[in-house]
Amino acid sequence: MKITYSPQLMEESVFRHLNHLERSGRRSEYDEFHSLADPIYEIPEDDREAEFAKVNKLFFIEKLGLGDFVLRALEACGLIPKRKLAGQQAAVPAGAVEMIEGGDADGEEQPEQQEETAVAETGQEQEEPEDKDEDEIQYDLDRTFEEKIREIMIKRAINKVDEGSNVLNRASGLPIIELRVLASRFANPEETQELEAFLIHEFMHARDMMDPQFDYEDAFIPGNPSMRNLITARFRLLWNVYVDARLARKGIKSVMPKEARFREFDNYYRKIPDKQRRAIFEGLWQSEQLTHEELLSMATDLDTLINQYIDYTDEFTEEDREYIHLQGSPCPLCKFPTYNWVDDPESVCDEMVIEAIKIDFPDWESKDGACDRCVEVYELRAGI
Ligand SMILES: [Zn+2]
Ligand SMILES: [Zn+2]
Repeated sequence: MKITYSPQLMEESVFRHLNHLERSGRRSEYDEFHSLADPIYEIPEDDREAEFAKVNKLFFIEKLGLGDFVLRALEACGLIPKRKLAGQQAAVPAGAVEMIEGGDADGEEQPEQQEETAVAETGQEQEEPEDKDEDEIQYDLDRTFEEKIREIMIKRAINKVDEGSNVLNRASGLPIIELRVLASRFANPEETQELEAFLIHEFMHARDMMDPQFDYEDAFIPGNPSMRNLITARFRLLWNVYVDARLARKGIKSVMPKEARFREFDNYYRKIPDKQRRAIFEGLWQSEQLTHEELLSMATDLDTLINQYIDYTDEFTEEDREYIHLQGSPCPLCKFPTYNWVDDPESVCDEMVIEAIKIDFPDWESKDGACDRCVEVYELRAGI
């Protein structure tokens, strides 16, 4: 397995990181970079790109150690066993020396690098977690994933929507993980926790996609485009909860704490009564093993989600559930996906409106609800 970084990601990350260091008064790396990069403008234009790429790679991997965040995230997810890579042994002390010479050695990166050197000396066969600050984190030392991956490609995302992970070549041969990340996440040494949380979260999705038990499939989602978007959004939410909950149980920080995920869940499932909504979320949060199919069917069908985690009681009956109109479910009158429901028109409309609806839809009951447009149409028809 190999890990590759796109030249675009390395270029922009190094540029942003060095500028950040320079603005906070640490010029040594910045100056060193320019002492190597500036002369490149004097060589023939056709050869420049390759030379710039070399300098960017030197800084991204060795001098600034930005690839280490990716390695640590892969370790935290159990995609690679916790170990130190050969080749860093020589590079890291060299970088450390230069920082000392520059007189700008900061408290942030220095101990990190010493830690790596120390680990390398203990030998590669020993894999038990050894550093103090990472004691609480339980690493999964399973090698099954590493052996299955051909390549991990880290690329630059063009915007936030473009960020995320995917697994290519799943069906045939060895899978390739592709992760897109904003270069700006590598800029600020004080925001590396967020960077790592992002990487870990995304690699967990990739890990699930390769896990035979998760059984990921490019499933066809039925319905019109807006319905599909809604199911996809709910599916992402449920999968995100499943990812973050497992990380939380291992003491690993993810992109969002539990309460923030619950607020997201709240937004989508507001119409389920509070107590039941909380119970469903808790059930989902405690789930140790879910499959792609389970997540998707819970996202598609409210009854499946409810049945998975709670029992119907007198307090909340199956009938109550039938009258929950989730955003995007079709209006019983016009059949269009509905985002603005009138849940019980009887309680807000004139009797004549209800009667007008019943002329067209004799089986319809007020609790079936209707979209606000249909209600308006029947108000007009009833002359109100
Ligand atoms: Zn996610
Ligand atoms: Zn309607």
